[in-house]
Amino acid sequence: MAGIGRDEAFTDSSGRRYELVDDKVSAAEALARIASADVVAWDDCGCGGDCGFVWLDKAQIAALAAAGEPITHRRQPGHVSTWQSADGAQLVLISGKVLWGTVIAPG
Ligand SMILES: [Zn+2]
Repeated sequence: MAGIGRDEAFTDSSGRRYELVDDKVSAAEALARIASADVVAWDDCGCGGDCGFVWLDKAQIAALAAAGEPITHRRQPGHVSTWQSADGAQLVLISGKVLWGTVIAPG
């Protein structure tokens, strides 16, 4: 199952494992990372993925890169973390109440 396991590695939908690089990047860093991300996962309710992730396709990732920096709200928990696999693949995980262009817009 995709998500963060007991060993704190993140497993994506294809079974690839990633180690945490930074558990809460700045908005500027998130924007810088998204352009080179191989996989982008969105945990829209912020539960850690118990109810599943949204996996962004290449067009959606490009849309985030074009949209500028993500917006987080002080009173609503939301953050962006970065992960890397042993073979160098980059994963960006968007968790909780993050607003980013028109793709990442929690209900
Ligand atoms: Zn959830």
